[in-house]
Amino acid sequence: MQQYISQLNEAQREPVLQKDGPMIIIAGAGSGKTRVLTIRIAYLMYQGVDAFNILSLTFTNKAAREMKNRIADIVGASEAKNLWMGTFHSIFARILRSEADKLGYPSNFTIYDSQDSLRAISGIIKEMQLDRDVYKPKQILSRISTFKNSLITVKAYFNDPDLQEADAMAKKPRMGEIYQNYVDRCFKSGAMDFDDLLLKTNELLTRFPEVLAKYQNRFRYILVDEYQDTNHSQYLIVRALSDKFQNICVVGDDAQSIYAFRGANINNILNFQKDYQGVKTFRLEQNYRSSRNIVEAANTIIDKNKTKLDKVVWTANEFGPKIKVHRSLTDAEEGRFVASTIFEQKMQNQMTNGQFAILYRTNAQSRAMEDALRKRDIPYRIYGGLSFYQRKEIKDVLCYLRLVINPKDEEALVRVINYPARGIGDTTVEKLTVAANHYKRSIFEIMQNIDRIDLKLNSGTRQKLQDFVTMIQSFQVINENQDAFYLTDHVSKKTGLVQELKKDATPEGMARIQNIEELLNGIKDFTEGQKEIDGARGSLAEFMEDVALATDLDKDTSDEDRVALMTIHLAKGLEFPHVFVVGMEEDLFPSAMSMSTRSELEEERRLFYVALTRAEHQAYLTYAQSRYRWGKLTDSEPSRFIEEIDGQYLEYLTPAETNYRFKPMIDKDIFGDVDKSKLRLAKPSNGTPPKYITDNQPKPEAQIRKLKPVSRNAPAGTANLFDNTLTAGNIVMHERFGRGQVLNLEGVGADKKAEIKFEVGGIKKLLLRFAKLDVI
Ligand code: ATP
Ligand code: MG
Repeated sequence: MQQYISQLNEAQREPVLQKDGPMIIIAGAGSGKTRVLTIRIAYLMYQGVDAFNILSLTFTNKAAREMKNRIADIVGASEAKNLWMGTFHSIFARILRSEADKLGYPSNFTIYDSQDSLRAISGIIKEMQLDRDVYKPKQILSRISTFKNSLITVKAYFNDPDLQEADAMAKKPRMGEIYQNYVDRCFKSGAMDFDDLLLKTNELLTRFPEVLAKYQNRFRYILVDEYQDTNHSQYLIVRALSDKFQNICVVGDDAQSIYAFRGANINNILNFQKDYQGVKTFRLEQNYRSSRNIVEAANTIIDKNKTKLDKVVWTANEFGPKIKVHRSLTDAEEGRFVASTIFEQKMQNQMTNGQFAILYRTNAQSRAMEDALRKRDIPYRIYGGLSFYQRKEIKDVLCYLRLVINPKDEEALVRVINYPARGIGDTTVEKLTVAANHYKRSIFEIMQNIDRIDLKLNSGTRQKLQDFVTMIQSFQVINENQDAFYLTDHVSKKTGLVQELKKDATPEGMARIQNIEELLNGIKDFTEGQKEIDGARGSLAEFMEDVALATDLDKDTSDEDRVALMTIHLAKGLEFPHVFVVGMEEDLFPSAMSMSTRSELEEERRLFYVALTRAEHQAYLTYAQSRYRWGKLTDSEPSRFIEEIDGQYLEYLTPAETNYRFKPMIDKDIFGDVDKSKLRLAKPSNGTPPKYITDNQPKPEAQIRKLKPVSRNAPAGTANLFDNTLTAGNIVMHERFGRGQVLNLEGVGADKKAEIKFEVGGIKKLLLRFAKLDVI
């Protein structure tokens, strides 16, 4: 044991050796908070505290497992086994099971996931004959969740005129009744939802003093990691349980509080000193995780926040490389940059995939990264979610598309025939299936002939089936004339999929819309690429082939060494040698939805702090100058967070100016050796990134021969601008492929093609009629 304690620094040792009393460890990222908790638990056991008397609460089950394993290494597995260690939900579900009868629940109560809860709420809304468009089930559920996490019971709701008025104002005067019915229904079904696990624990501990006393006596030592992200309900549980012995040790970092949007209350950490008598406060200041460059850069970021505790974080680690900032033209190119950097690093420095993490603000952003990694054959794993093409809403769209190509695809048909709901029930589908088997035909064919087969369906149902057939057939017609992007956009709207998703205003619901948007972006990228390369339409069939390959690869779950992809929220507490934070753009990060108040923006900034401090050795911040959004190439600006880092900690891999068209980057492959002495680094003023300035560049706008507007829709044979202007040797700028040099021209008129060597992506032949080129 002593050996482990001697490995700690002085400041870390103190809270480990301080056995009793309330204490709080407030410290920045990577300073060993989790490590102190782990050693502290082992040391308590070493001092004779029974494992059964120690309760340790972590943020994820994975964190709990890892901690337990480490403790097992120190004190032995048989001892460690008895520790109460896990998330709030898992620990209190266990306690509720043994006390369920007191609350009138069976001990084998069901735990409802959010799908179950939604179904129950939808049922209630129907029974109460309320308008589903006003009383949207997901909104109702989210409101009920807020009540529960704030400990507002049904009774409390009806005693609070303000709450009722708020709901009446929101045109939901019957909110209270729904809440009441939902609670009753769960109770009758012997079920608790996720929020109940905390709410009922609170109820148990307040209503039954003898139960409270029992658990107070059991949990003589309580430890909480990531305390800054506890919500009110969790806070009260911890308070109640620790009230007798007051042996409570919480660790956290106010700078890493990133769950306010889920009800986490940063005041829990700020007010800890007031809640207990004689609180010992410990501060850890030395960061062991990251290079000095990263630690100091992270400090400059968090300094911008007004609401924070004063903290020092320093490190004795080597300075390390600067944070690399990379700009690309599009998100596809951003993906290529990340993938090729990983590839090169692996080659040059013998690194494994597991040493890299790619972090993003929203799940939808994984798509561009996944596509690029796959093309490079780099295995990856998506944490806390499905890989892009496995997500439900994406599969729904893809199933419609599969039907368009092949209406006999039964799996696809059954999945979407009644989604979004169009009144074609399970019984009808069963009848169709039976008939299909009987006549040895596909379900779709049976539907096409529904009037000629007697399936004992009423005329309303028959009409609905015919409508569905007509809809799919109309898609098929479009598919013959339009590209895959147009079709998919049309399908996602006409089927009602997008409208269905828009009903859900929760963060999860919005993420699903973003995913669909991202699918469209991917398709746009694909169709545009196909058009330029061979003038082809970029058909759906070709796209689906690409996707089929992708989804197939996803199924590979073997436990090999993989690059980690996850949202920043999920990365909390973790560390990796190399970290890419991608999509560093205004409106994406900080998110457009979190910029209206200072506190929202400060939460985004804390999130950035979390992201950056995951890196041990090298951090990369990447952004794209344009992304497809709903099929339109939209310009984006670099995130303000990049500018907020003191420039001395950054290395710009690409010059930082935003308007690439008129300020091409210096590249010796094409421009020959550039005399570096002629490059001046413009002094960054008021925090803006430095810009490279040369005497011969950038060219003034007037000298750039704009080849736009591109005669995108010009009929074949139309003479166009390119006939006279473009020649071999021209340097061109392409909207997606970036800069390149024309090697060769061939063909005439509308068939004229240019062979262009691009800096990224190599040589491509582009049909000039479609190519989005500027000569620079
Ligand atoms: P976060 O705020 O991100 O959760 P943390 O404060 O919990 O970070 P840890 O994860 O406990 O920090 O520690 C960060 C890294 O530093 C880990 O790899 C840990 O093993 C290492 N570390 C912590 N303390 C020491 C020490 N005294 N000597 C050597 N390494 C240490
Ligand atoms: Mg930690």
